[in-house]
Order: sequence, then C-alpha cells, then structure tokens
Amino acid sequence: MEEQTPRLCPDTIKSLEIICVGTELLMGHTVNTNAAYLAEQLACTGVPSYYQSVVGDNPERLLEVIRMSFSRSGGAILTGGLGPTADDITVETIARMLDTGVVIHPESQERIERHFQAHHIPMTPSNLKQARVPVGARILPNDRGTAPGGILEVCGKVLIWLPGPPTEMREMFEKSVKNYLKSRAPLHIESTYIRLFGIGESAAEDRIKDLMIHQTNPTIAPYCSTGECMFRISYSSTPGHTDSSAREPVDHLIKAVSDRLGDYIYEIGKRTLPEVVSDLLRERKKTISFAESCTAGLLTSMIGEYPGASDILSGSVIAYSNTSKTDLLGIPSQLIATRGAVSEEVAMEMAIRCRQKFSSDLAVSITGIAGPDKGTAGGPVGLVYLGFSQQDKAFVRCLRLSGDRSRIRYITALNALDLIRKELIHEG
Ligand code: ATP
Ligand code: MG
Repeated sequence: MEEQTPRLCPDTIKSLEIICVGTELLMGHTVNTNAAYLAEQLACTGVPSYYQSVVGDNPERLLEVIRMSFSRSGGAILTGGLGPTADDITVETIARMLDTGVVIHPESQERIERHFQAHHIPMTPSNLKQARVPVGARILPNDRGTAPGGILEVCGKVLIWLPGPPTEMREMFEKSVKNYLKSRAPLHIESTYIRLFGIGESAAEDRIKDLMIHQTNPTIAPYCSTGECMFRISYSSTPGHTDSSAREPVDHLIKAVSDRLGDYIYEIGKRTLPEVVSDLLRERKKTISFAESCTAGLLTSMIGEYPGASDILSGSVIAYSNTSKTDLLGIPSQLIATRGAVSEEVAMEMAIRCRQKFSSDLAVSITGIAGPDKGTAGGPVGLVYLGFSQQDKAFVRCLRLSGDRSRIRYITALNALDLIRKELIHEG
C-alpha cells in the first residue's frame, strides 16, 4: 500500500520488544512458542530485544504495552489478534496508538476472497475485517492464511504485526521481515552452531573454558537440551564494516573447539542428529532397518520425519512384547526365557534378524527398561541394550540412563543415531 501520510523512517532500529497477544497465552492454554522463535530471530538479525510481554485480547492493556515499547525501546513486534472475530483487536489498537485510520487493503481483500473460494468455505462479512489495515502501513502478504501482517514506521519507532498461528507467523517473518530487520539492525551478527552428542554440558565447557573466557568477539555461548549440547559462536560487526577477513577469527575458534571436542561433534551448522545420520546413510548409499522394543517406533519416526526417508529406511519392527519378538523377528523364546528380554544376547539377535528380515545394509535394535516400573524384564530402570548389525560385524552397546520414561526413550533413540553416525564415519 502506498504511504498516505509522511512518515519518518528510522535508519536503525535500536531495539524491539516482543508482544504476544492472546488471552489463551495468559491462561496457559497455548505455549508461547512465537516469543521464543522471535527472540531467536531478533538475536540473529542483530536487533537487540530487552523486553517481552504477553497481553490478553484487551485493547486498553495492549495500548499500554505498545506505548511502553515506544518509551523504552525502538518499538515492537506483535503476534496474534489479527483474526476476523470481535476479540481480535491488534490492528485497531495499532491504528489507535499511531492516531491513524483503518482502511480496506484491496489486495488482501482479493486474497481472502480467493482463499475462501479455493477451500469451498462460505465467506462471512466478518472475514473481510482481516483486510482492514492501518493507514500508511506496509502490508505483508500471508501465504499460509488470510490475515495480512504489516510494518509501520512512525516518529523513529517501528511496529511490526504478524498473525498468531506459528506456521503463518514464521513464514511471514522469513519472507517479509527478516531482511527488513537486517537492513536496519545496529549490528550485523553471524552465528555458527556446533552441535554435540555424548558429552554433558559441564564436561564440554571444561574442555573449552579458556576459549570461552578470553573471547569477546566472536563470543561463544553454551546451550543445553535433553541429551544434547550446543555452542553458538557469534561474530558481530557494524553494518558496512564487514570485510572478508572478518570470518578468520570465527574459523579459528571453530577449529579450536573442534580440536578439543572431536568425535562428540555431530554437526557444525543447522542439521539435527537424525538429519545428519540420514544424510550420511544417503551419501554412503546404505539402507537401514530398526527393531524397536522400549522406544516403540520413536527412532523410526525420527528418521521418517525428513523427506527422502524411503531412500534409506527399509523398514522397522516394533517388537514390544516377548511374543512379538519371537513371532515378528524369530527370536527363540528359550533365549528370552534364559537371558531376559532386556539382555545383550536378545539385542544382538534382534539386530541380526532384523537386518535379514528387511535385507538392509545395517540394522539397529533397542531393548530396555524405560520405567517407571521394572516391568517383567527385571533389571534397573534405564538399562538399555542397543544392537548393531551389518554384513561383517555385529555388536551390542549397553546404556545406563537416568530420568523419567520419556527422557529414557528419547535419549535411547539419540544414542542409537549416534552409534550409527560413528559407525558410518569410522568406516570411511
Ligand atoms: P486467527 O485468524 O486464527 O484468529 P490470529 O492472528 O488472530 O489468528 P490468534 O487468534 O491470537 O491469532 O491465535 C490463533 C492461534 O494461533 C491460537 O489459538 C494459537 O494456537 C496460535 N498462537 C497464537 N499466538 C501464539 C503464540 N504466541 N505462540 C504460539 N501459538 C500461538
Ligand atoms: Mg484470533
């Protein structure tokens, strides 16, 4: 939309607050994943963010937090409240805050009409409310839904508003907001992620403590999630002052960290462990199959999540009960009776027979006690055996994990993936 009133454009945005609108967020019915996503994105784009607010569908309180963002920050990025119903108040409130009117945006109106036709849903007059935008705004198209977003710059401040549904919000941010923010960020920030498995956060930090203490730019920061840890290396520069030698200290630091943490590093970049393993299998032209007991398909679904899994995944068996281990995989019931379902011998047989069943290059089996009860298998909660089989080799690894049922199952699946990764790498 053409700007209809003269606006002052700030060259740089000194900082932005994140404001998430929705009573369901305040009530705890919806987890505020938009705030986490936007916080991470703002950090990447180099726009500082010092405050986050959640506000219900209430115009007065929304007005108050937007005002606050104008007084202490360079403005705000808002999500939610762009829907067609009476409790969706974001656009009207922004217009009120900026003392501007609201007009129909013809392109958005057409888009909304097309959306309803394409989905064979009758359109009600209230749906057209979503085509109403504050005067003077730059309108951001919504390729996944109906509500457009927008950007308005006024008196050196910026307001950006995006839809609430996370898929719509993320796509709009990627397509229409990210580059806008980068071009106005006070800092240019480049980040590289080093991802590790098999080593705890403190042990990993211990190995690189001296590097962490002495760095100011680039900086190195640890992050930890269930079973994994990650270091983020960030280099910041002033826009326009980034020369080609800027990467040198970053590369130097990555090399120093790699030298110290070696095999624990599964990725320098953005890929997850299942993605790395899938890519390795594809590069090596290998197929794999799984025989899962206590993880009940979790490992298979981690591989299945990525497109092209059919190139590498031959199949899998969820052999949960003792009977299914015998019926589906042919494990002798005598072996289960004498050694126990959770044993080195059964894990080995499961892997070997799984590979034969699916005629895959590799197979991995999992049998263990996820808890909270010991179950019929006996043995301590967290005892897990991973079996590995390929043409010329088969072995079993024993894990002793701690935590609740979901953690034990999840860490087991990650350990299985890491075992496959190491086997593929060391095979060359
Ligand atoms: P709609 O047109 O669907 O009403 P909207 O822009 O008005 O979209 P909301 O009504 O605020 O957005 O939220 C719609 C849905 O999007 C919510 O029910 C919730 O599932 C999800 N959602 C909204 N805000 C967030 C958030 N901050 N984090 C995660 N999910 C959110
Ligand atoms: Mg809504």
